[in-house]
Amino acid sequence: MELRITEIFLSLQGETRTVGLPTVFIRLTGCPLRCGYCDTAYAFKGGKKMSLDDIMNEVRKYKAHYVTVTGGEPLAQKNALPLMTKLCDEGYEVSIETSGALDVSEVDPRVVKVVDLKTPGSKECSKNLYENIAHLNKKDHVKFVICNREDYDWSVDIMQQYDLSSKCEVLFSPSYNDISGSTLADWIVYDQLPVRFQIQLHKILWQDQPGK
Ligand code: SF4
Repeated sequence: MELRITEIFLSLQGETRTVGLPTVFIRLTGCPLRCGYCDTAYAFKGGKKMSLDDIMNEVRKYKAHYVTVTGGEPLAQKNALPLMTKLCDEGYEVSIETSGALDVSEVDPRVVKVVDLKTPGSKECSKNLYENIAHLNKKDHVKFVICNREDYDWSVDIMQQYDLSSKCEVLFSPSYNDISGSTLADWIVYDQLPVRFQIQLHKILWQDQPGK
């Protein structure tokens, strides 16, 4: 059983409830989307094929308790599912970062799902698979990356339409090169939204360096 892998590295989690905690990232190669703000285009192609055992051995080299399976779009490779199950079986706390364009229903229930809902500013809004919302629970997250006021208003509408804040954690994150964090934060406070504002910690610390 093999997966195509761009990189496996230890860093600090930059987002979600485990922000700041040492985490091993497994970045799978390939993504069917092309978001305008994508900061991991280097993971679209290339990578190297690794067996499940080789991946596990690489992860075991680090002392971290948290593992995040990311991409690219990790669910574009069907073997991402048994990989996550194996990581859970070994006692890791596992999360997956996914675009929201692919079905999450088969993801091991022990895995924390971080599911994007792509905003109009991403240019990939039409790919959102809203059926995924039915598979989210309180430990999961929906993430909106917001590029401008139109994205913000759209995100608030979707959040209310699907009653997202009662189902899971809702993350509002500024698109790093498009809008300042303080502008988005001011909108959230003004509207008293039940969302978690987040700035990607790894961007502040290391900008866009691969392997960070
Ligand atoms: S889904 Fe993620 S990896 Fe794929 S293009 Fe969009 S931002 Fe990049």
